[in-house]
Amino acid sequence: MISTPPDTITAWQAEQLDALRMVRRYLAGIKSDGRERLRVSVAKYLPFRRDLDAFLARHFNHICTRNCYTNNKSACCGKDSIITFFAEVVINTLVSTEEELDLLMDVLKQSNKGLKCVYLGAKGCLWRLRPLVCALFLCDPAEAEVFHSNARLRSQWSLFKDREKTFKWPDRVVLFDDLEKIFITAGYHSPLMYCHTSPGLLRVKRSAGLYTAGSQGENRSGNLFQ
Ligand code: SF4
Repeated sequence: MISTPPDTITAWQAEQLDALRMVRRYLAGIKSDGRERLRVSVAKYLPFRRDLDAFLARHFNHICTRNCYTNNKSACCGKDSIITFFAEVVINTLVSTEEELDLLMDVLKQSNKGLKCVYLGAKGCLWRLRPLVCALFLCDPAEAEVFHSNARLRSQWSLFKDREKTFKWPDRVVLFDDLEKIFITAGYHSPLMYCHTSPGLLRVKRSAGLYTAGSQGENRSGNLFQ
């Protein structure tokens, strides 16, 4: 593996790179049935992303292309500006080819001298399943153009935000939390494991009775994979 001088990449890139390395290492080290179990566990998440992408393609892509992409503005893809959950790295790794993952690692190892997200390639985002914070971001002008006179679309958008929570917001048993737990149990730790490190999300878990401070874990017996 090529080692990169630490001063050539940002701390954000280093965290992303570490997380991706961990996930690839873990997946390479487990048996195919373990990998298959993980695939099954994320199966319910993928239709959500398909629905979301279809909605965006239908109602927003033409606006994004016209306002931002053709003039190379890509204003919503700023350098080191997004929060990606560890689980998203896991899911994207599961659905990507080795070549796609190698490309992500390559760009993360390079110094990003521009102002754009390191993942932004010539044809768009290099993630096969881009982070939710990106997929669910609408800039004000685009949002106003689509939703201003269409309450039905606005309420459909709210439903996508509700669906997001069922995977990500740990006031219940959620996929993102459980994926982190699997890797923590295997001895991996990453700052991107927000369900286990973010004070705000830990508070949410505590309020829901899913976490006891100091217990290094959850106050529940199972997870989505059991
Ligand atoms: S991850 Fe992809 S969609 Fe998100 S900011 Fe970076 S290039 Fe844009």
